[in-house]
Amino acid sequence: MIEGYRIVDVHCHPIADDLERSKFNAYGSPNCTKDFFADMRAEGVDFCVGSVIRVESEPESFAPFAETNASGFELEKKYPDFYQTGIRINPLFVKDSIAELEKYRKQGVTWIGELVPYMSGYASISSPEILEIFAVARDLGMTVNIHGPQTEDLDNLMKNLPDLKVVAAHPGERKLVLERTELMKRHKNLHWDISGTGLFRWGMLRYLVEQCGADRLLFGTDFPICNIAMQIYGVLSERISDEAKLAIFSGNYDRLSGRN
Ligand SMILES: [Zn+2]
Repeated sequence: MIEGYRIVDVHCHPIADDLERSKFNAYGSPNCTKDFFADMRAEGVDFCVGSVIRVESEPESFAPFAETNASGFELEKKYPDFYQTGIRINPLFVKDSIAELEKYRKQGVTWIGELVPYMSGYASISSPEILEIFAVARDLGMTVNIHGPQTEDLDNLMKNLPDLKVVAAHPGERKLVLERTELMKRHKNLHWDISGTGLFRWGMLRYLVEQCGADRLLFGTDFPICNIAMQIYGVLSERISDEAKLAIFSGNYDRLSGRN
């Protein structure tokens, strides 16, 4: 824990012991579920959220996605005070995806993703198929975290489903930051998680807070791909108000997830 803050990481990818290829640990650690959560706690995270992922470039059925969802939900049951799972859908399998949303929503799941289209056999996040699935997510009051979408694709999604709660992942570099900032101003339900590339650019977070408002930004790490402590200190050291830090670290997640 970090004194003065409750830190919720809305973007991580837990390692599931029962699943091969779910370990996104470039240098070999953590290598099991227990170590994944131990590292999270040791670095100061109080609660974490996200999908168990596995690369499925040409999926032939929804089964591999159902499998990672089941695995993530098992972890949530095992670590109820520390982890909320984010389930995955796939627009190649519309009916299965909608059934999956309904099934897990009944069991208390309110988060979808991070969805990573390029690892899952699809590209667009505003195709008719994915919009059909996301419309159900909207009606169920769920929040969707999506890997760094292209600006135009994201704009199309928000134009089609303005009431869907979306958290776009990763700030990225300056060009994308400027583009997406304009999008954030147009779509009130569009949010942004600060995991991955971006926060190491000095002043980036302050710019986002000034332009978009702290209530639209969520803390994330993308652990075990990225360093947790660098992300935490990236927020702590930024010249933004304490109120903004509290919103980014946990307040916005609490509001969007309906959990507390
Ligand atoms: Zn990720």
